[in-house]
Amino acid sequence: MLVIEAKLKGNKNQYKVLDEMILTGQFIRNSCLRYWMDNKDVKRNDLQKLCSVLAKDNNFPWVKKLNSQARQASADRAWQSIQRFYKNCRQNKPGKKGYPKFKKFTRSVEYKTTGYKLSADRNKIEFKDGFKASVFELWTSHDLVWYSEQQISRVRVVRRADGYYCQFLVNAQRKEAHNFEGNVVGIDLGLNTFYTDSNGDFVENPKYLRKSEKRLKKLQRRVSRRHEKGQKSQSKNYHKARKQLARQHLKISRQRKDHAVKTARALVESNDLVVYEDLKVANLVKNHHLAKSISDASWYKFVTWLEYYAKLHGIVCVAVPPHFTSQNCSNCGQTVKKSLSVRTHKCPHCGYIADRDHNAARNILAKGLEMLGAIVNSTEGHSESGGNPKATGESDLWFNNSNIVNLSHLCERRIVDDENPAS
Ligand SMILES: [Zn+2]
Repeated sequence: MLVIEAKLKGNKNQYKVLDEMILTGQFIRNSCLRYWMDNKDVKRNDLQKLCSVLAKDNNFPWVKKLNSQARQASADRAWQSIQRFYKNCRQNKPGKKGYPKFKKFTRSVEYKTTGYKLSADRNKIEFKDGFKASVFELWTSHDLVWYSEQQISRVRVVRRADGYYCQFLVNAQRKEAHNFEGNVVGIDLGLNTFYTDSNGDFVENPKYLRKSEKRLKKLQRRVSRRHEKGQKSQSKNYHKARKQLARQHLKISRQRKDHAVKTARALVESNDLVVYEDLKVANLVKNHHLAKSISDASWYKFVTWLEYYAKLHGIVCVAVPPHFTSQNCSNCGQTVKKSLSVRTHKCPHCGYIADRDHNAARNILAKGLEMLGAIVNSTEGHSESGGNPKATGESDLWFNNSNIVNLSHLCERRIVDDENPAS
């Protein structure tokens, strides 16, 4: 699956129509939720049926203007949030279960395979349902030309602070050829650097993000200053500031994504194994003082992209539990206690000296290799001779299915390497 995004270029009236399309999708979703709340034993099929009932209802003449598959997709959205709620209840998830809510500010509407037409050169899209939004130019850096219409399974119209976009969901297997050179790396996601690796190299935190956030704060203050309490309608200046703020949020999220993508891809391209520490980012962000730097660094996004590229390249990416990686000596294994402010690891037992994060990254890599060893052994049926069974049990928790699949690949490689010591 591949998502290709293009900006929609049209005129003001056309954009208004897109808004109506999005609102209609929201109306259908909310109506489905209402129906689910008011009736017992509602199934997905009941919601689909409700779509056609709504389309025939003269009280809501706009519903039938929306393409029938797009109507169904909106009902499916309601169904998904209902399912999510049920699942959380079944699993007895602590905290809020996410009871489905009515949406007030939906930003997108989804088409499947009908209701629109792409031009042969893929530079234009025409929406052909009852709304008659008609033809938009498509601005994208990706070449949609390479994909047939059969490969496009969904088209989503998205409203953002700086305009309207079209996302194409393309059924295409993306695989990258990977140069296996035997490089393995552990990374310590840090505050002083974006990450430091087990070779002692590091990637800096991007400064432009700090800059962008300064501006964000300024715009935030402007919006609250211009907001008149208790007034139903706000001034022109307020709305102007509000839009500026929304655009700045968009800019930052794009910058974050850009940085995360580039850094993750570079790391995966030059390694066959990447080990990182599962930091439970959500817990850390609650800590007020660290919050800023952490959200800045956007580790969560980075790790998501790391997993994505690892899959694409067919390499192994492992998360290890965060225990004592900064306190232990990566050379002799002894515990060397230090507070957050101590930047250098100096081992009194073996004399090893390294940057604090470099030492941590070495520990992280060692932990990852240990876990891999445990799993490889247990898959080969030597779990007893393969050392500590606790490590195997523990590591299961940290591996997801994708890693297991990739792991088999690594095992194969190991066998090949054993047969050809020269390779
Ligand atoms: Zn030591």
